Amino acid sequence: MTRLDDAGEVVAESAAECDGPRAVVMTSREVPLGGVRAMAVFRALPQRELPLVGAWCFLDRFGPQRTRMRVEPHPHIGLQTVTWPFVGEVRHRDTVGSDVMVRRGALNLMTSGAGIAHSEYSHGDDAVDLDALQLWVALPESRRHGAPAFERHEDLPTLPLAAETGDDGEATVVLGRLGDVASPASVYTPIVGAELHIPAGATVRIPLEAAWEHALIAVDGDASVHVSPARIDGADTVALDDKRMLYLGTRRDHVRVASAAGARLFLIGGAPFEDEIVMWWNFVGRSHDEIVEARDAWEAHGERFGEVVGHGDERIPAPPLPKVRLTRRRRRL
Ligand code: MN
Repeated sequence: MTRLDDAGEVVAESAAECDGPRAVVMTSREVPLGGVRAMAVFRALPQRELPLVGAWCFLDRFGPQRTRMRVEPHPHIGLQTVTWPFVGEVRHRDTVGSDVMVRRGALNLMTSGAGIAHSEYSHGDDAVDLDALQLWVALPESRRHGAPAFERHEDLPTLPLAAETGDDGEATVVLGRLGDVASPASVYTPIVGAELHIPAGATVRIPLEAAWEHALIAVDGDASVHVSPARIDGADTVALDDKRMLYLGTRRDHVRVASAAGARLFLIGGAPFEDEIVMWWNFVGRSHDEIVEARDAWEAHGERFGEVVGHGDERIPAPPLPKVRLTRRRRRL
């Protein structure tokens, strides 16, 4: 049985559990971000049929664009935010006292625990060139009720990606572990987030953890991903270009990627997450009532979230709740 996904790709129909390899191409959708002075971002995750890849529950690409970013203080619960810039600088301020510039090459990792708030501004008062990924990692039960924290890492480890033809590629291990190389950043589930460079004319091998699920996101350049087993239509190569994501499922111990002119990709993956989650606005929880409680706390200006340093009254108000009860999101791939 087959059907078409959003990108018109033929994919296999399967059970809700992710029980094996997949090769599903998904497109990012353009969404406004940041309230009144909104900027456009491209959202690859969550997808209607794919709420999580491991513990990764959200992936936005903002850019490349020339913009003045003003995301005023807003709250988070139950997650980590991973900010990974390609171009430009963003000033991050939060309720644990951080006031830092987020720059290319540095991982900025904010762990909300039970509650944190932050703002994100582009540098200066004028429009600037900006391009970055922002991802969220769902926190497991053991960490999601804990204290908020912020950390940055400017010296991230790399892993050579062995070439089958041409020159070796390189992975920067941003979060978690790839092969035998681990990022120093704090993580609470088995996970990987890595930037991958594929040289022009090369085919490289990317090691994967067979028990984990993975997805590849195109950042720039041209990439062809060799998938085995093949897709249900018999194709064994998937072209991964601008703003597309390839969901790979589980039970792959590697994937091969070729590029004609050179490519940059981002790999996300991890152990299938322990719970189904309820995600609404900036909150990740397990039930409708938890989300309502967090929303009320933000609207009440209470102690749960505290004050973002260097800000006055400006803040993003919570949107109204939907008329229906929020439900847990389930994988349907
Ligand atoms: Mn945020």
